[in-house]
Amino acid sequence: MSFNNIIGNEKVKELLNKSIEQNNILHSYLFLGTEGIGKSLFAHEFAKMILCNGDEKEKPCNKCKSCIEFENGNNPDFMQIENEETAIKIEQIRYMNKKISEKPITSTRKVYIINNSDTMTKDAQNSLLKTLEEPPQYATIILIASNENKLLNTIRSRAIKVNFEQISEQEILKYIKQNITEDINENMISFCNGSLGKVLRIIEDKQSYLELEDLINKISTNDLVYILNNSEILYKSKEIINDLLDYINILLLKTQKIENINCIQYVENAKKRLTSNSNYDMTIDELLIKMWEEINEKYNRG
Ligand SMILES: [Zn+2]
Repeated sequence: MSFNNIIGNEKVKELLNKSIEQNNILHSYLFLGTEGIGKSLFAHEFAKMILCNGDEKEKPCNKCKSCIEFENGNNPDFMQIENEETAIKIEQIRYMNKKISEKPITSTRKVYIINNSDTMTKDAQNSLLKTLEEPPQYATIILIASNENKLLNTIRSRAIKVNFEQISEQEILKYIKQNITEDINENMISFCNGSLGKVLRIIEDKQSYLELEDLINKISTNDLVYILNNSEILYKSKEIINDLLDYINILLLKTQKIENINCIQYVENAKKRLTSNSNYDMTIDELLIKMWEEINEKYNRG
């Protein structure tokens, strides 16, 4: 039995374990559920189990050539496709179609994961359809998606749906207690909203989140120049800026002060501007200025 290191979604664990034990692996699965609840972790573990050459009852054995290669990220029978920028393009699916037709090397099967499969372009989906209609007998394709409506009906009808459920705050707390020595505060737990992926991201960048809390707390008690000069955390964290902006919203909401809640619109604007490729530093400047003005407006009025 596996998936021991993944929290929640016990029904999914049971289903996937059973299919491994009974050697009843299907050609295509569609893993559905909100972002960050562990679909990708499950898909990886499942892929490793499918490819493992060990005994059915002990997969993944973590000892066979396939398991070792999988852990090292060089198992030739495994591939993961990711969106490039915002979409998975037809060229990527064409390449996958070509590779999938080559016989497995280390394992007796091949597994392909398409992460964020709901970002496939129409052309990419149509190209994938050909493989889904007539997959090689050794192949399994796992589609991961949060919005199944973006997938063609013809694709959806060919894959077995596996629904993932939200993980409760209690389950997350239990997981943190058992597995992580790091403490995370209440704001961080609200931010995670049942997503283990977010918990792990927060822990990795915990210092950034703490710095951000400090910055937001200081807006009402410092002048604008000080705030702009002490906001490096936002300027230097381009890779995680979306998470940080969402976190600002959590912090603003928590205060229950009207001027803080009013600031959420500016955060949302900044998020939009960043996805439309506006100048990064200017967007952050503007966000801080607007927030500072909103939060300190009462002093101006007085
Ligand atoms: Zn193995």
